[in-house]
Amino acid sequence: MKALVIEDTLTSATLVCHQLGKMGLETVHARDGESGIEAFKSVRPDLILLDIIMPGMDGFEVARRIRQLERDGEWTPIIFLTARTSDEDLERGIEVGGDDYLIKPVSEMVLKAKVRAMQRIAQMRYSLLVLTRKLDEANRELTRLSTADGLTGIANRRRFDETLLKEWRRCARDARPIALLLIDVDFFKPFNDNYGHQVGDECLKTVARTLAGCLHRSTDLAARYGGEEFAVILPDTEEQGALAVAEALREAVHALGITHRFSAVAPVVTISIGLACTVPQRGDESGFIRLLKRTDAALYRAKTGGRNRVVCAPDEAIASVE
Ligand code: GH3
Ligand code: MG
Ligand code: MG
Ligand code: MG
Repeated sequence: MKALVIEDTLTSATLVCHQLGKMGLETVHARDGESGIEAFKSVRPDLILLDIIMPGMDGFEVARRIRQLERDGEWTPIIFLTARTSDEDLERGIEVGGDDYLIKPVSEMVLKAKVRAMQRIAQMRYSLLVLTRKLDEANRELTRLSTADGLTGIANRRRFDETLLKEWRRCARDARPIALLLIDVDFFKPFNDNYGHQVGDECLKTVARTLAGCLHRSTDLAARYGGEEFAVILPDTEEQGALAVAEALREAVHALGITHRFSAVAPVVTISIGLACTVPQRGDESGFIRLLKRTDAALYRAKTGGRNRVVCAPDEAIASVE
């Protein structure tokens, strides 16, 4: 524990330092306001004893400045120790940031009791800070858990829904395109039925990791949409770019080479991808549902068209004529 004594009268300072020393506190002495503030900056004491009448800056001003210098969450107990006895001075001392006000000469017993009381408050405050920090951490972990898929660890459906709405609104504001991919593992039922559910789970984990690993922009999101289906949100992405990403995903899963003797399309696990892209209109709050429907229809066509492929939904205008 370090105490800073800001006091211009040497005899008084020496006495207080001596008494604090007996309580086991390390003391630093500053002879005026300016050097007191400098000492505060470099020492960061646990307690300050502050005189009021000093040449140059008075104790009220010193207290006021120290309060301004404290960092977020920092608090240094300040006890005024002064010859000024009026109620007005005491009131002002507390007003400018003091925590207690003692009148000189102060008995060793009173000083000791006051310092102890201040230490106890500081300790309680510190415990509370630690607790708050732990609570913040626990909350962050909870958020992470509630938005991650339990099996694969990538974003879950809930995070997907939230992100899609958020990115939809952002792209509408900026008049930017947004692309959506829906991904489904081909012939996954026979994979599960023949290799077992556990191998199926491992396969889903590997596919999820591969999909997420192929995305490079911080705003891109790969999520588990449900069962053996995944979804990818690509904000600020035109159709051509989205097609390139989708093709890269398809190739990456194919290249994993996970044996699948029961697939009718390849000897390894493959995926089919439906893709749709649009520029959201301002105020079209439910437009993302249309985007989802178009993406789903494209996925259906990828399936019926032979699987292990990417199909892009037709332009919205064309689709509405069809
Ligand atoms: P298609 O090529 O038409 O998509 O055929 P499919 O067999 O993949 O299609 P279907 O939707 O009939 O099968 C999905 C299967 O995925 C059903 C189930 O056996 C499996 N599945 C879904 N969720 C999980 C999961 O969490 N773990 C495992 N191991 N298998 C899952
Ligand atoms: Mg003085
Ligand atoms: Mg499916
Ligand atoms: Mg499937």
